[in-house]
Amino acid sequence: MGAMMAALSLTTLSMAMAAGAKDQFGPNSVAPAAQTFPLGKLRLTALHDAQLVLPNDAKVFGVDAGPEAVGKVLRANGLPDRKITLSINVLAIRSGRGVVLLDTGIGAQGHGSLAGSLKLAGIAPESVTDVLITHTHGDHTGGLLDKNGNYAFPRATVRMSAREWEEMRGRKDAAAIVKVISAHVVPFTPGAPVLPGITPLSSYGHTKGHVVYQIVSGRASLLDIGDTAHSSVISLQKPEWTVEFDEDSPTAKAARQATLKRLAARHTLIYAPHFPFPGVGRIAAVGGAYRWKPALR
Ligand SMILES: [Zn+2]
Repeated sequence: MGAMMAALSLTTLSMAMAAGAKDQFGPNSVAPAAQTFPLGKLRLTALHDAQLVLPNDAKVFGVDAGPEAVGKVLRANGLPDRKITLSINVLAIRSGRGVVLLDTGIGAQGHGSLAGSLKLAGIAPESVTDVLITHTHGDHTGGLLDKNGNYAFPRATVRMSAREWEEMRGRKDAAAIVKVISAHVVPFTPGAPVLPGITPLSSYGHTKGHVVYQIVSGRASLLDIGDTAHSSVISLQKPEWTVEFDEDSPTAKAARQATLKRLAARHTLIYAPHFPFPGVGRIAAVGGAYRWKPALR
């Protein structure tokens, strides 16, 4: 354990040096990390991929509220007011059937540490049977390619909503990934299980085909909310604010508000790919807004 901790901090150090100053704006490298927890008969593992640091310039969060209002929320939560930090996480589900990944992070050709985090979790890329995609933005699909630009999970079927796949095939910035994964993609219509115990549900707004995934094992369940909410602070305390990342802002806002209300009322266990690693916890209703209650530390 001691040796492992030492190895981890050395990795952190060398990555920080490679990336220049830690915490610079943009995607930053993180030390590989994996945290495993049970869900019924399944073993789930949150995998750390990267972190994204955005300046508080109201270009992404609080577009209609301004940096002053955003800064006020950050300060009230004990956070620095000049930046907003998002984690980029991936979730693995292990069952008797195989290994399923939910999204793939930013990719090894960027700053992604997914390969290292999978290794820590003891998951070989060849053992991944299915990759389920919430939506096709680069911080969720980049990891479909390995560092050489080849398909990272040679035995896996890639599943995403038919609408999202159609969108992705029309996007120039996704052309390299589309070319590599085309033969492996099986699109679905949300609303019915795609694998035993895993059901995609439409949650359009962030993108045209964005889905969340409900995972059920026995009486236990968890909802992967995808990009319904991005910041565990801003998106929960000001869900009505416009987020530049959302392609259809009014629809995304409505989806965010309805989802948060339902999750808080039902005390649902959730996983959020952009909340602080490992991104597993619950939503609590507090004074007309919401707060993040991590379930794992
Ligand atoms: Zn995202």
